[in-house]
Amino acid sequence: MRILITGGAGFIGSALVRHLIEHTRHQVLNLDKLTYAGNLQSLTSIAQNPRYQFVQADIADGERVSQALAEFQPEAIMHLAAESHVDRSIDGPAAFIQTNIVGTYALLEATRAYWLQLDETRKQAFRFHHISTDEVYGDLHGVDELFSETTPYAPSSPYSASKAASDHLVRAWHRTYGLPVLLTNCSNNYGPYHFPEKLIPLVILNALEGKPLPVYGNGQQVRDWLYVEDHARALLKVVSEGRVGETYNIGGHNEQKNLDVVRGICELLDELAPRQAGSYKELIAFVPDRPGHDLRYAIDAGKIQRELGWTPEETFASGLRKTVRWYLDNLDWCRHVQDGSYRRERLGAPE
Ligand code: NAD
Repeated sequence: MRILITGGAGFIGSALVRHLIEHTRHQVLNLDKLTYAGNLQSLTSIAQNPRYQFVQADIADGERVSQALAEFQPEAIMHLAAESHVDRSIDGPAAFIQTNIVGTYALLEATRAYWLQLDETRKQAFRFHHISTDEVYGDLHGVDELFSETTPYAPSSPYSASKAASDHLVRAWHRTYGLPVLLTNCSNNYGPYHFPEKLIPLVILNALEGKPLPVYGNGQQVRDWLYVEDHARALLKVVSEGRVGETYNIGGHNEQKNLDVVRGICELLDELAPRQAGSYKELIAFVPDRPGHDLRYAIDAGKIQRELGWTPEETFASGLRKTVRWYLDNLDWCRHVQDGSYRRERLGAPE
């Protein structure tokens, strides 16, 4: 397949691009605006592959997207480009409305115009796969409850509200215009190349620098963690074999309290990179809770398992060990993010 991926320089997008180039014969066009979250250094290992191309563009720029579609002639679009950090959405929601809602709308319209002029066989085979989050469902309070594909939407933050809006647009473009769409809603991802503002990389890097390890509130918030490469494998399954118009929830069967995640990282670091004295756990610092903080997310991933035969390969213990090991082995990548030098690699954007 010829697959256009939006947001392929981000955390999950880059894992997906690396997976497609390393493990399949598909051709990939990565269309990414390169915001602060886009990092071409996450794609160094495959950047020279003849099946990979990159174009710097904003999904909200309909003309530029139409041009990329006409030139690349994709058989599928996998849409990951988004503003994705909840704390940033609380400080400044405008960018989330612009990219996640207006950008998705512009991408859908450019895609619809491209799709309409395909011949019947290619039109039938075409797929628009929208990648979303379990945060659209709000949070859970009962310990046994799980989000399923039919759970009503109840987003809490500007981030999750903007993702919810984009999900509705994608479904409407299917229902109203017949665009062959697929949706996936996934739980929290973790793994290599994760931007250091997110919990797991932040804790690893702060610990190594002897800085406090911030935990929101009492640290009892529960998240269902999925190793990013398991997510990439799930996305490939859905875009190749998923039923048109369907939604698939993706989760790791790995519910963890935030405080336990932080403690787990400390234990791994105590083993792999011990401090001169004491445990990294001594650096844990509780900070005032995030406004509107969701208590618990947990996914029922039974549908994708039954229909497409996907299950995660990593447990939380194996994935967290791989992740901590990766950060210890790739401190250069982290340094380039932290000192901002990764942004100089963006094409045509002098800094
Ligand atoms: P990320 O923030 O790491 O990457 C987002 C990418 O999108 C970046 O490369 C950025 O440059 C690009 N981008 C942003 N605005 C753009 C625009 N207007 N035009 C083109 N490119 C633009 O995000 P991520 O964590 O990799 O998440 C990818 C997708 O998966 C998002 O849609 C997110 O909602 C969803 N998701 C993330 C998680 C998670 O745990 N990270 C979980 C479930 C779903």
